[in-house]
Amino acid sequence: MKSILGKWASSNHPTRREEGIHARLRMDCTLPTHMLPYIANTFPLQCFTCNITLSVEHILLHCVRYREERMSLATYCQARGLLLTHTNLLGDEHLDVLDRLMISLTEANLIREL
Ligand SMILES: [Zn+2]
Repeated sequence: MKSILGKWASSNHPTRREEGIHARLRMDCTLPTHMLPYIANTFPLQCFTCNITLSVEHILLHCVRYREERMSLATYCQARGLLLTHTNLLGDEHLDVLDRLMISLTEANLIREL
């Protein structure tokens, strides 16, 4: 995802928890997508709603389970002329979008699960 090595402008968050969540999302290695399925020997885990392999991209962009929670984030991106993509959400170029993502994850109670 990161094409140039160097310091990430988006690495600093208000809380250590958000920094950890952001790093996990960027690595595509979260509790529900990798860590818990490995422990339970159920990797790769399927999304029980959509019946496809669970991934960060699926949770953030495609899962119908989080469609409503994703709407405000999609509207925000659209107002800025941005597509709702993995790179726009987690990259280093749109820090305000990343902040909105953290708000959306908090509102959806997903931030505790990641
Ligand atoms: Zn799903």
